[in-house]
Amino acid sequence: MSDLEKLAKLDIKMAVLALLTAEGVKPMSRVDSFEGPEKVVSKIIEKLGLTVEIKTEGCKSEILFGSGRGLAKYKDALKLKGGEKVYEMGLAFGYPKCCSKYFSEFLTGLKNEKPDKLKPLEHFSCPNCRLSPSLQKKYQEAYDLFELA
Ligand SMILES: [Zn+2]
Repeated sequence: MSDLEKLAKLDIKMAVLALLTAEGVKPMSRVDSFEGPEKVVSKIIEKLGLTVEIKTEGCKSEILFGSGRGLAKYKDALKLKGGEKVYEMGLAFGYPKCCSKYFSEFLTGLKNEKPDKLKPLEHFSCPNCRLSPSLQKKYQEAYDLFELA
């Protein structure tokens, strides 16, 4: 069993995000409320060439991983406010600019039409997005890879 398959047994979503982040589809990823062996998870993700940061509170952890640049982008976004913060965070998570912009405008009341929540992306797409379907396909392929393993 590969390391990534081991990770998928612990948390399939984390394995999908780790694979896509290592492939450069996403600059970085964040997994909230992880309850599990964070040291084991961290070692597997680091072997993929990514930087891992873990914040633990009680028995739950927030796990961030990505390229150095990806994590820096995310931290810069955290310092912003309002729509700009939402937009920049969307880009750090690897969502298309059009969708990140639409979602930030929706949250700040500039757009009324609710964005589509795409599975398994867990991402809000702008209406009739041209970029999200191919991103969605990459996520689905990664889930299929681990679910069939
Ligand atoms: Zn879009």
